[in-house]
Amino acid sequence: MEDCIFCKIVRGDIPSFRVYEDEKVFAFADINPISTGHTLIIPKRHSRDLWEIPEDDLSAVHLASIKIIRAIREVLKPTGVACVQLNGPGANQVVLHYHLHLVPRMEGDPELPVATWEIREGDMEAVKETARRIAAAVG
Ligand code: AMP
Ligand code: ZN
Repeated sequence: MEDCIFCKIVRGDIPSFRVYEDEKVFAFADINPISTGHTLIIPKRHSRDLWEIPEDDLSAVHLASIKIIRAIREVLKPTGVACVQLNGPGANQVVLHYHLHLVPRMEGDPELPVATWEIREGDMEAVKETARRIAAAVG
């Protein structure tokens, strides 16, 4: 899709910190991370949301999440990882290209709101370095 920011990331028209890629899926660091290692997984083919995404893309995204969540555990040793996925503006979906958030949780982290977190720009060097380490662990 021409104007979609995540399609632009898939095409390489705008930069991203890539964590994982295969034929159907692209994963990269969220630039406004809720926590260290906050990662997004998207289908390369544009779909807006869970209502629209074809089953093969949906399963590819979630199969990739297994690889990435293992890498996150290895690199960051979180106490948990929240998988968050929002559908539609009413659920605060801001980028209308299907995406699965992987949000590592650490001991003592503040409670994670389901759909109303504050957007705060991350430290880009730290975001890049963490993405590099997770990518290396995905293999
Ligand atoms: P959602 O509310 O589920 O649509 O969340 C969209 C997410 O995309 C937010 O967490 C943003 O920080 C993230 N985001 C937006 N633009 C970019 C970008 N260019 N690179 C990485 N993450 C982005
Ligand atoms: Zn798109």
